[in-house]
Amino acid sequence: MEHFNLYIDGKQVPAASGRTYETEDPYTGKPWARVADAGGEDVDRAVAAARAALSGPWGSTTPAQRGELLRNLAALITRDADRLAELEVRDGGKLMREMSGQARGLAAWYTYYAGLVDKLQGEMIPTGKPNYLVYTRHEPVGVVAAITPWNSPLLLLTWKLAPALAAGCTIVVKPSDYTPVSTLALADLVAEAGFPPGVFNVITGWGPETGQALTAHPGVDRIAFTGSTETGKAVARAAAEHVTRVSLELGGKSAQVVFADADLDAAANGLIAGVFAAAGQTCLAGSRLLVQDPVAETLVAKVVERANRIVIGDPRDTATEMGPLANDRQFAKVLEHFEAAREQGATIACGGEAVAGLGGYFVRPTVLTDLPPGARAITEEIFGPVLAVSTFSSEDEAVRLANDTPFGLAGSVWTKDVHRAHRVAARLRAGTVWVNAYRAVAPEVPFGGMGLSGIGRENGADAIRDYTETKAVWVELSGETRDPFTLG
Ligand code: NAD
Repeated sequence: MEHFNLYIDGKQVPAASGRTYETEDPYTGKPWARVADAGGEDVDRAVAAARAALSGPWGSTTPAQRGELLRNLAALITRDADRLAELEVRDGGKLMREMSGQARGLAAWYTYYAGLVDKLQGEMIPTGKPNYLVYTRHEPVGVVAAITPWNSPLLLLTWKLAPALAAGCTIVVKPSDYTPVSTLALADLVAEAGFPPGVFNVITGWGPETGQALTAHPGVDRIAFTGSTETGKAVARAAAEHVTRVSLELGGKSAQVVFADADLDAAANGLIAGVFAAAGQTCLAGSRLLVQDPVAETLVAKVVERANRIVIGDPRDTATEMGPLANDRQFAKVLEHFEAAREQGATIACGGEAVAGLGGYFVRPTVLTDLPPGARAITEEIFGPVLAVSTFSSEDEAVRLANDTPFGLAGSVWTKDVHRAHRVAARLRAGTVWVNAYRAVAPEVPFGGMGLSGIGRENGADAIRDYTETKAVWVELSGETRDPFTLG
């Protein structure tokens, strides 16, 4: 059993209460690490350290210095990518072949924001008032509370951390209770990169206790949350108490819309990537297939044939294509959805059951057809390897079905008709639409959702501004005394 402390003000420290809890390896279903269980006192300490760091040496770093620190961090993450990936696989059960690439890819976010940090310019604003020089400054928003889920802990943290550090903020992270360890390992690299103590702090513990205490803390200036829609609502309520700025990256029920003229082999591959990669445990999972009538049977047959060949097993084995679900709660939830689909009269084209004999939390890749409108598999985020199939006859019907969800995170259009591709991409109510592709993300490209999928966008050049406050400075030029009872 490995032991991990909190990381506050540049030091590893136990929880003030001395409490700890165990995290499980979902491949074996057995505990492998013991981590500190932070309480209110630890949250206070972490936020105080982050506040103090704002007015320490970090507060006076130049953009170029912050850029250099971010580049140092990128290099260290690349150096230690295998270890970071190993920790994520151990805690979350995701595939080594995906996570080692993902861990190496993190560096791109830090170098991207390192390149932007000295381009965060204010502007001089010409106004109708000739007696004034007016300009804006983009100042760091302050202490950021970052709350992350278990499915890609370091990637989803990086989407917050890289622009926040570039902007000059300090951070307190509360990783998922299920997958805290890789974030603690990152803290060592942040220190080694040369960031001063207090700039990056990690508190581990349970959502409704540690997470709630952090989001409700009056010393937090900005909350960056990724997780479920239900928790997102609780976070927004906590943020409202102190009118704290908040971004929410929440759940999804994304549609992959396949027209009859599409390359069906490419579409089948995109569907597999969209919903079976990471065992469907991605916010952007393409969990609904909308397929045009004439090709429905052929396409579903292709997906089922490939789904039945997916290699399930040890996430560390590079031959494995699908590992376990990340935890017992998720496993129970997916099995419950299999039951619900059966009760609602779905045809289980493949899967629909747990994998016997492997231990851990394994389920089969599942394709559901003949679902009645409004079936739970069509409307609810399952966060597992479950594809719900519906058919359509016209473009209008496809758009109506795709948008018939309160979520709006992502979606795709599969067609060879370039006119239709752009038309439908424009009509889908989602923060990301891929055309003849699925599951591509990059530091330069904004990502986020509409509706119940969230508020705000991560990534892209604007994200750095999202961690600043814009200040307008008015400088009176004439030196004369004005009438105090007129505005402007
Ligand atoms: P979750 O909402 O259960 O937990 C997310 C985080 O919030 C965890 O760190 C948890 O400890 C914390 N938390 C729980 N209750 C809290 C509270 N009351 N106050 C503050 N923090 C609290 O989500 P999860 O099960 O870890 O992750 C899966 C969900 O995340 C899915 O719905 C998925 O769609 C979503 N997700 C969204 C994105 C995106 O970018 N939109 C990316 C990945 C995952």
